[in-house]
Amino acid sequence: SIDLTGRVALVTGGAQGLGEGMARALAGAGARVMIADVNEAGADTAASLGEGHGYVRLDVTDEAGWESAVAATVDQLGGLDVLVNNAGIEISSLITEVEPDDIRKMLDVNILGTALGLKHGLRTMRPDGAAGKGGSIINISSVAATIAFPAISIYSGTKSAVDRMTRVAAMESGKLGYGVRVNCIYPGLVPTAMGAGLANDMASLGLYGSPEEAVGAVIELTPSGRLGEVEDMADAVVFLASDASRFINGAGIPVDGGMGM
Ligand code: NAD
Repeated sequence: SIDLTGRVALVTGGAQGLGEGMARALAGAGARVMIADVNEAGADTAASLGEGHGYVRLDVTDEAGWESAVAATVDQLGGLDVLVNNAGIEISSLITEVEPDDIRKMLDVNILGTALGLKHGLRTMRPDGAAGKGGSIINISSVAATIAFPAISIYSGTKSAVDRMTRVAAMESGKLGYGVRVNCIYPGLVPTAMGAGLANDMASLGLYGSPEEAVGAVIELTPSGRLGEVEDMADAVVFLASDASRFINGAGIPVDGGMGM
């Protein structure tokens, strides 16, 4: 099994859902974990991980917030070896109905938020940074960046941007000798607040007869024959955080039961 003892991980959007599962799995493998989330319920999530973990309030779209979140992690937990850029939002709409404000919100959290995470993560982990030991950054893209789904055009675009930013960040990190691997995963549909909300939206937008029918269509496309579970994503993140993935860099890994192939 994977041992992350002595490593420090920062997980954005770690208060609930996939991020909470990732935080729990990283802590379970021995890492000290900082949960960074706008939702202050993240403090309770961090406390539930046990001793040696922390919570910092962070809106990933706020650059000053990133500076203090990263500094708090290095000061309180003793470094930064793993960054999971997981915070994200999805606002469903048909492309014919999409609202500029909703587009901006998704661009802000999913693209700007991930970009700022890459910026401050790399600056902190590169040799001249406050943590200075290299490490691993894992961005959370989506199966929506690999196949088309109705109702999530803008979201899909933002998740494709996460995929492309991952590749360029890995390239720059290598060329400049930062010693930081940068990868992303494409989760399949998981019935978190976001995932269940999407199934409801696809039904209420008239694309499927019911949320169950929307879920059935996803399962039909999935060779593994089920939806994703939080632990499926969390285990992939632990692997990418660890030395077991030491020669995986600039990759996008589907964790979707084959749905996106
Ligand atoms: P969720 O809505 O359950 O949780 C998202 C978390 O992010 C929340 O704790 C929220 O407070 C936090 N967050 C939102 N905006 C933030 C901001 N500006 N700054 C800091 N934190 C913020 O969603 P989830 O299903 O756990 O999704 C997690 C990630 O996985 C997202 O990036 C999502 O796009 C991606 N994803 C989810 C699915 C799925 O089916 N659930 C599939 C593919 C990809």
